[in-house]
Amino acid sequence: MEVRNNYINGQWQASVSGATREVINPSNGEVIALVTDSVAEDSKQAIAAAKAAFYQSGAWRRMAGPKRADLLLRIADAIAARADELAVMDTLDNGKPLREARCDVDDAAACFRYYAGLITKPQGGVYEVSDGFGPMHAYSMHEPVGVCALITPWNYPLLMAAWKLAPALAAGNAVVFKPSEVTPLSAVALFEIFHQVGLPAGTANLVLGSGPAAGQELAASHDVDMITFTGSTRTGQTIAAAAVGNLKKVGLELGGKSPNVIFADADLEGAVEWAMIGVFFNQGEVCSAGSRILIEESIKDRFVARLAERARAMSIGPGMKDPDMGAIVSAAQLEKVLGHIERAKQQGATLVCGGVRHTAGECAKGYFVQPTIFDNCTRDMDIVREEVFGPVVAIQTFTSEAEAIAMANDTPYGLAGGVFTTDGARALRVVKEIRAGVTWINCYNPTFNEAPWGGYKMSGYGRDLGVNGLLEYQQVKQVNINL
Ligand code: NAD
Repeated sequence: MEVRNNYINGQWQASVSGATREVINPSNGEVIALVTDSVAEDSKQAIAAAKAAFYQSGAWRRMAGPKRADLLLRIADAIAARADELAVMDTLDNGKPLREARCDVDDAAACFRYYAGLITKPQGGVYEVSDGFGPMHAYSMHEPVGVCALITPWNYPLLMAAWKLAPALAAGNAVVFKPSEVTPLSAVALFEIFHQVGLPAGTANLVLGSGPAAGQELAASHDVDMITFTGSTRTGQTIAAAAVGNLKKVGLELGGKSPNVIFADADLEGAVEWAMIGVFFNQGEVCSAGSRILIEESIKDRFVARLAERARAMSIGPGMKDPDMGAIVSAAQLEKVLGHIERAKQQGATLVCGGVRHTAGECAKGYFVQPTIFDNCTRDMDIVREEVFGPVVAIQTFTSEAEAIAMANDTPYGLAGGVFTTDGARALRVVKEIRAGVTWINCYNPTFNEAPWGGYKMSGYGRDLGVNGLLEYQQVKQVNINL
């Protein structure tokens, strides 16, 4: 089987470790590819290449914004040209339904287009300043941060890559990218595209390998000026601690346990529809998943009955067959999800549906879990407090708006939250009170390249996407001119 390698300084090369790692199709447990398994030395080489590209050659950072934009647009076109192939890659690698992988590919291409456009718009400002020193003129300019390390998780392999690489490259940085070792394939394809469009050597480097072996060096190295990370809160803490040595800039997009608050006056069918998307889309492996449904007591029974009816009707199967729900990404994640389910049962939550591994028919060897609903959950239960990152939802009830808000905020996380009501003023009041970086009213989970994404509290800091997403990868220089 051909081995996919690192891409460092414009060259494909195997890890100095000589080791390889198997990439598994979670739908059937079969090995679909081999990738080189990097260690700290590979990351050091990639960092050195990025440092030379940024500080010595400077070809990319000195290139005019519109020229960089041209290359980003060619990257977007190349992604679109390989869309079917890339979608199959993410489906085989991650387990998600093919049509959802295809949406990820379209969104990834659009992300490169968005930042290609944004970098051609005005950057910086001109200031009226006091004339105590005589006539002065001041302006500011946005410059790239330098060498940026980017680390992503496995739930949206290509899309998470695009969220970070597009703005980092648009801003003129040199990057070292480490995708999740669980889902590395579409990252390799993306770097083939970078090579094909002719990014200057060393501008974008790819290191394939595990977090502790290959990722840690990216966080600790004093030659890295910035690290942005999407993944679990625990890993985020490790990265932030390692990054302190040279005070590199840090951006963290972490986990969540997001509340989906549904009032009695909500359109019930609409709320059920969005709650399904909120918690079962992408097998529930979504950082913003509405995994705590807080529902007004008077409509709870009707809502739960309808949600369970919909959940039981979901088709489950290999992503390539385009079911409603695909496989959990790995055997390890499957065990984690099943562990959460068992603990919820032991701690007294009422299992409404699901709650078991799904092994029927062609799912026998894959890592499938039935969509799972727990009712009568209480605040002390792990299922209410801990991120599952699987198709499992905990239901709790409230009787007043104030109680709903207090329950919504009763979590160390603050990534997302939703509100369902036909009372517009209440929707705005509640959304304002929810301590989270991303909120939805009468919908759940839609995400846009144009709008900033990120968390409060232990869901991290910094923003992906939107104008804020570009600013993260820039620093601002003040220029004062003595007239
Ligand atoms: P993870 O933290 O285990 O791994 C994420 C990435 O970090 C991987 O590339 C991994 O190799 C790397 N890594 C692990 N240890 C490292 C270390 N010590 N140093 C450097 N890198 C290291 O997370 P995961 O299991 O891949 O993804 C699931 C998590 O990601 C969930 O908690 C989820 O909420 C979160 N997530 C957040 C967002 C967001 O936007 N906030 C989006 C997607 C996923």
